[in-house]
Amino acid sequence: MEIINGSMGWIEVICGPMFSGKSEELIRRLRRATIARKRVQVFKPAIDLRYSADEIVSHADRRMASEVVEDAGQILHRIDWRTEVVGIDEANFMGPELVGVAGTLADSGKQVIIAGLDTDYLGRPFAPIPELLALAESITKTLAICMQCGNPAKHTQRLVESEALIVVGASGMYEARCRRCFEPGVPRQRQLELMPAPRGPQNG
Ligand code: ADP
Ligand code: ZN
Repeated sequence: MEIINGSMGWIEVICGPMFSGKSEELIRRLRRATIARKRVQVFKPAIDLRYSADEIVSHADRRMASEVVEDAGQILHRIDWRTEVVGIDEANFMGPELVGVAGTLADSGKQVIIAGLDTDYLGRPFAPIPELLALAESITKTLAICMQCGNPAKHTQRLVESEALIVVGASGMYEARCRRCFEPGVPRQRQLELMPAPRGPQNG
C-alpha cells in the first residue's frame, strides 16, 4: 500500500496478541508519516492509561503523543479535518462504532492505521477487529514469542482469575503463548496457587 493517487483514504489494521509489537509498528508508521510532513493525529481509549495519559507507549517504552477518547464516536468530534493520517491504538477497547468511524475517516481521504488485539483471553475473535479486517485495505498480523516454549505466539494468556472480558494490565497479568501452550482462561498451575490452602484438623 505505497503508491496512491490524490487523497484517497484507506484502512490499515495491525493485529495480534499482547507483546507482539503492535504499538511499535503503529508508532513506526506514524513516525514515517511525520517525516513525510503529513498531518498526523493519534487516539487511544481512556480505559488504557497504564503508562501515560497523553502518549501511546509500547512495552519497550517507545512513545508518541496521543489524544484520549472515551469511545470511537469521540474521534469524529476531535478530528481536525486537515489531518491526513489517523493512528488508533488499543482498538479493541474503542467499541463497535469504530467500524463506522474508520470507514467515515477513510472515505473522507484519510489514511487510518488501527492497532488492536484480534483475540481475547479465551482465544475468541475480539470485536471490532474481525470486522475491520474484512473492511481494511491492508492487514498485518504480528506474533509475539511464547513465554513457555519460545515458538511464535498468537495468543494472549491471562494469568489472573477473572470472568471479565477486559482486565487492563500488562506484565504479570498476561503473557504471550503459542497455540500449543495456550490454556483458555487461567492456567492450571495458577489455579492451584490461587486455591485456598486446605484446612487441616490442627488449624481449625
Ligand atoms: P503490543 O502493542 O503488541 O502489546 P508492544 O509494541 O507494546 O506490543 O511491545 C513489543 C515489545 O515487547 C517487543 O519489542 C519486546 O521488547 C517486548 N516483549 C515483551 N515480551 C515479549 C514477548 N513475549 N514476545 C515478544 N516481545 C516481547
Ligand atoms: Zn508455546
